[in-house]
Order: sequence, then structure tokens, then C-alpha cells
Amino acid sequence: MKELVERIKKLYPEPTVELNFSNPFELLVALILSARCTDKRTNIITKELFKRYPTPKDLAEAPVEEIDKIISSCSMHNTKSKNLKALSEILVRDFNGEVPKSLEELTKLPGVGRKTANILLSMAYGIPAIGVDTHVKRLAYRLGISKSENPEGIEEDIKKAVPKEDWIVFYTGLILHGRRVCKARKPNCDGCPLNDICPKIGVK
Ligand code: SF4
Repeated sequence: MKELVERIKKLYPEPTVELNFSNPFELLVALILSARCTDKRTNIITKELFKRYPTPKDLAEAPVEEIDKIISSCSMHNTKSKNLKALSEILVRDFNGEVPKSLEELTKLPGVGRKTANILLSMAYGIPAIGVDTHVKRLAYRLGISKSENPEGIEEDIKKAVPKEDWIVFYTGLILHGRRVCKARKPNCDGCPLNDICPKIGVK
């Protein structure tokens, strides 16, 4: 595990998400929109959305039909536009227009699940957390870190195996490695810098 963590850190030293944002509110909105939507499309949509409605107050006061129109090229836009308006209203009413910094408070917001909350906490606030998306799930399995099917179980297994100070760089590194090398259908094991230490569980 120690060697694996070091290699991931060397390969992907900067924790990063491929969504454009300049504050926690923008990241929260982008994460909600990116569910079943590519990061590329999400970035196109948020450019316009943030220009029109830059703050929670602006989005809370926006007509839901207008939000829906701007995000219409995104899948599940009907639900997402309602959630974005509702969560902005809650941020204004209960959190003074700020995005809360706890998993418990975040996961009570409409449209915000555990994965989104963990990515938000780690990438917007630098709070150690593990966001388990489809790439993290697949790589944790192939690399022999977790056999769990459930995101919470995977999160716990990674937390046990990786030092807390490396949680963020490790899980974001897994996401990038999953996108670039260890792809779902065709993992490029021959060209993978982890080849000599990876047990390749389930890879044919
Ligand atoms: S060796 Fe293959 S299975 Fe292991 S991380 Fe690399 S691409 Fe994925």
C-alpha cells in the first residue's frame, strides 16, 4: 500500500477535479450538474449559469424555468433545476449564503449525496475525505484495496489503508488514473506505471 500511495502521488501530485469553479458554491452546483453528465458539458453549462446567477441568493431568487432553460442540455435537468433552486434557498435561509463544512449538513441538502459532499469538503475546503465515484470503486477493487460493493464500505477500506494526510491526493489520483489508464472496459495494463505492483483483480 505504501508503494502504491507513493506512486499515485508521484503520478498525480495535484489533487484536482476537472470541473471549473472559483468558490465552494460553484463547486457544489457543478458537482450536482455533473451527475450523469460529462465534465466538459457541465463546464459549458456552468459558465453561463454562474454569469447569470453568481451567488446562492441569485439562484434562490431565479425562476426555476430560467434555471431549467440554461441547464437543459444536461441529463435530468428538471430535477436538477428544482434541486439547485431549493438548495440555494436553504443556503441563504440557514447558512447565511455559505456552503456548510460538514458531511451531515451537506447530505441534507437536496441533490447532495455522500460522494458529492466528500468531494466538496476535500476540494473546496481541504478537509480530508474520500469521494467514491465509479472510477474509485473500480480501481479500489482492481488494486485489491476493497472488495466492497457499497461506496461507504469502499470509503472505509481506503481510509484504513491510506494515511489521512494523503486521502485527498490518493482518491483524486485514482479518478484521474481511472479516466486515463485503468478504463472500465479496456484497462491499459501494459502501459500502466502500477503494473508491477497491481494484483489486477477481476481484469482478464
Ligand atoms: S495494472 Fe491494469 S488493472 Fe492495475 S491499475 Fe494499471 S491498468 Fe488498472
